[in-house]
Amino acid sequence: MSNSIEIPKIDNIETIVEKIKSKELKVLDLVIEHLERAKLVQEKTNSFITILEDQALANAKELDLQIEKGEVDIESKPLLGIPFTAKDLYLVKDTKTTFGTKLMENFVAPYTSTVVQKCLDAGAILIAKANLDPFGYGSSGESSGYGPTKNPYDLERVPGGSSSGSGASIAAGVGLFSLGTDTGGSVRLPASFCGVYALKPTYGHNSRYGVGVYASSFDTPGFFSRHPEDIKLLEDVMKGRDENDATTYEIDHLEIKNNKTIGLPREFFTEDLNPEIKDKINQKVELLKSNGYEIKEISIPSLKYALAAYYVLVMAETSSNRARYDAVRYGEKISDDYEENMSGGRAQFFEDEVKRRIMVGTYVLSAGYGDQYYQKASIVRTKLKKEFDEAFKEVDVIISPIANETAFKIEEKSSDPVSMYLTDIYTVTANVVGIPALAIPAGMSLEGLPIGMQLIGKKFHEDQLVDVAKVVR
Ligand code: GLN
Repeated sequence: MSNSIEIPKIDNIETIVEKIKSKELKVLDLVIEHLERAKLVQEKTNSFITILEDQALANAKELDLQIEKGEVDIESKPLLGIPFTAKDLYLVKDTKTTFGTKLMENFVAPYTSTVVQKCLDAGAILIAKANLDPFGYGSSGESSGYGPTKNPYDLERVPGGSSSGSGASIAAGVGLFSLGTDTGGSVRLPASFCGVYALKPTYGHNSRYGVGVYASSFDTPGFFSRHPEDIKLLEDVMKGRDENDATTYEIDHLEIKNNKTIGLPREFFTEDLNPEIKDKINQKVELLKSNGYEIKEISIPSLKYALAAYYVLVMAETSSNRARYDAVRYGEKISDDYEENMSGGRAQFFEDEVKRRIMVGTYVLSAGYGDQYYQKASIVRTKLKKEFDEAFKEVDVIISPIANETAFKIEEKSSDPVSMYLTDIYTVTANVVGIPALAIPAGMSLEGLPIGMQLIGKKFHEDQLVDVAKVVR
C-alpha cells in the first residue's frame, strides 16, 4: 500500500457551476464521481463518519430533473449541483450527527443548521459528514471517538484538527468545499497540514445556529476549498444576520480602502520559527512587495499571553456548554438509576479529551480561582483586541505562520496534551480577538509536506484577505 494518496487537480466552483448550467455536466455524474472518491478516500484516511450516498444520489437526480424542466432559477444558485461535505458538528435534519463523540453516536438532528441550509438553498449537495475531534477539541484529529483521520500526503501523519476529515478529504479531492468550524484554529491548521485554503470568518459573520457548540464566544463556522475565488463565493453565500443567532451581523456597505500595507508581527517571526516555514512565508512576502505591497514590522506585545488566555477561556466556556450532555438530556442512557446514569454515561462514552476539558474548565471557574484564571484571561483578551485595533491603524492585513511545523506523526503528541495545545500558538489569537483569518498554501517542505500561512484581517474584511491570497497563489 502506498503511503500517500493522489491529490487530484480540481476546477473552481464557478467553472463547474457553469458546466452544469450549460448542461455540459449532469449533477448526478458529478455527485457519483465524488461519492466514489469519498469511499476510496475513506478507506485510507478515515475522513468521514457518515457517507450520505442514498440521500445525495436522490437529491442529485431531483436537481437534474428540475434543471431539465427549467423549474429551477439557476441564476439564483451560485452552488448549483456542487457536492460538499460538512464536519459532523453541523446539524442536518433527520441525519445522524455525532459531534465526534461516542456519547452522541445515535443522535439524529431535529433541524438543519443555518449555514448548511444556506448552502443547500444555493444548490449544493451534501455528500458526507466529516470526522473531527469530539466537539472540536483537538489539533490533530486523533481524539475523535471514531478513530483518527490520516493525512493524504502521508498516511502515517495527522491532517491537523479539529476539522480533520474536512481538511484531509478536500485535499484528496472529495467535494468542492467542506464546512468546518474554527474555535482556535480548527480550519486553518488542517488547511496548513493538507495544502488547501480555509477561511475562519469574523466572529458573528456566519451563524452558529445548529452547529455543535465548543466555546460560544470563539466558535466560528468556517470552510475549506481549493481556490481563493471559491472562498469569496462561499462566504457570500454563508454570511449574514440570522434571527436564530443573536451574535450575527448584517454588514451591507463596508468601505474597503484598497490600501496595500502588510504587517509582520515581531512576536511571531522570532528565532524559534522553523527556518523552512519562515523561508516559504518570506517568498510570499517578496511576491507581495513586487506587486506593490508595503511590508511593515509591527508589534503586538500581548501575543505572548494569547495561548494561555485562550485555553483558560475556552475551557471555562466549554465546561458549562457540556453540562447538558449528561446522558439524560443528551447522550446514551446506560441505567434507569438517575445518578448512575448521569455519571456512568459520561464516564463510559466521553473521550479522554472531553473529560479533560470539562475538568479543567470547572477548575478554572471554581470558587477562589475565578479571579486568578478567568478574570486575568479576560483582561488579556481585552488588551489583545486593543492592540490589534492599533495595529490595524497602521496596516491592512497581518501575515503570520499557522504552525511551527508540518503535519506530525500520528501518536507523536497524543499522550502529551500540553504539547498538543502548543500547536495552536499562532492560530488562537484571531479567535480571541474575533477577526477573520485565511489559511493559504505557502509551498512544500523538503519532505514533501504542505506548509501554510495565514492572512489576518480587520473585522468583516474577508474579501481583502482573498485579494491578497490571489496575488500570492
Ligand atoms: N486546537 C484548538 C483546541 O483544541 C482549536 C480547536 C478548534 O478550533 N475547534 O481548542
